[in-house]
Amino acid sequence: MVTTRFAPSPTGRLHVGNIRTALHNWMLARKHGGRFLLRIDDTDPDRSKEEYVDAIRADLSWLGIEAEGEERQSERMDRYNAAFDALREAGRVYPCYETAQELDLRRKILLGRGLPPIYDRAALTLSESERAAKEAEGIKPHWRFKLDHDETIEWDDGVRGHQKFDPATLSDPVIRRADGSWLYMLPSAVDDVDMGVTHVLRGEDHVSNTAVQIQMFTALHAAAGGAQQKTPEFAHEALLVGREGKLSKRLGSLGCDAFREKGIEPEALVALLARLGTSLPVEPIADRNTLIESFDLSTFGRAPAKFDDAELERINTAIVHQLSFDEVRERLPAGMDEAGWHAVQPNLSTIGEASEWWRLVTGPIDRLDFSAEDRAYLSEAARLLEWSEDPWRSLTTALKEATGRKGKPLFLPLRQALTGMDHGPDMGELLPLIGEAEVRARLEHAAHH
Ligand code: GLU
Repeated sequence: MVTTRFAPSPTGRLHVGNIRTALHNWMLARKHGGRFLLRIDDTDPDRSKEEYVDAIRADLSWLGIEAEGEERQSERMDRYNAAFDALREAGRVYPCYETAQELDLRRKILLGRGLPPIYDRAALTLSESERAAKEAEGIKPHWRFKLDHDETIEWDDGVRGHQKFDPATLSDPVIRRADGSWLYMLPSAVDDVDMGVTHVLRGEDHVSNTAVQIQMFTALHAAAGGAQQKTPEFAHEALLVGREGKLSKRLGSLGCDAFREKGIEPEALVALLARLGTSLPVEPIADRNTLIESFDLSTFGRAPAKFDDAELERINTAIVHQLSFDEVRERLPAGMDEAGWHAVQPNLSTIGEASEWWRLVTGPIDRLDFSAEDRAYLSEAARLLEWSEDPWRSLTTALKEATGRKGKPLFLPLRQALTGMDHGPDMGELLPLIGEAEVRARLEHAAHH
């Protein structure tokens, strides 16, 4: 069964880049009738906050991205310890005693000579007694995973195509700190194995992590007795950038709260992010199944995907125009019924704007000044007003006949007198909502002031 996961660290709110990764993993699982898991990467107790865990859940729920299960790394320390012991037994992790300053200095020397700053594995050459001496000095080791330099790392990336790394060009990654705490790399691989993750889809900033993790998967499988486990498929999507084409700070802090505040519907965000950066057209598709069916990693491009607020707003407007009364009724102003929604919907770019238009029905409206000629015309309108099935139609027909006006001079003064505005919802739909007495009162007020 296809199993994907979204693995945020609860050290902040989700931003539009994370949201996109979550969405794509969810879509990939849905497309194959598989499972989508939420994994909270909370191994760092100082930076992880419960309020962010709650916010991540709330954001996913607002987006309509439901997970089949939730896991927390902080509750899985036993598993990481066991994997660590097994890898150590197999000679795939080793203790290191260098200080951060020493490592930094070595890196600088290598860079100064124009060489790649790869860890030189000095700790591997320590003798038993040298190690004992370090321990006697009270120096606690941190731990590295030993890459197998004889095993070329290769995978067919779902987005980037065939990838190949020479492990000798990579540093053995530190997986555990001297205080026993974990870095991201190993716990993630252990989780992916334990949770049966079949597809790891994430940002291209993880490509070199994947290279290392592929060897971890192999080592973990071997340590588990070579069980019939498969290393997941990997796909790395191009990063999201601002419209200017630059990695923008703004995008890094743009999250669900900001979208909600601007009146962006989750469906609009989903429709945009589902296809941004792919060869499929970005369209205001409110039906998720349509998006899921067309979701295909092979349509993803390698160029950065450009996020444009104006495009999101356009999609949002089009989505708002598709929503049914039942989908929005709870968010409409008090008293607004289906006919009211129908009347204002074409004028909305956000649902929040419904209350501004609804004020044209409930009042008070702006009172405009009219010329003497228009006042006479509006007085005639009040006189000719007759309530019917379609009062707007009968009123304008009668006025046309009586005054000879047509087009703008026929319609505009009426709209202005009845709504206080030059444009707005269809008058034919508004009139029955405003009601006969109020329509008459507004016409008379305009005629006599
Ligand atoms: N917690 C990691 C991150 O947010 C997860 C990366 C992954 O998908 O493995 O970058």
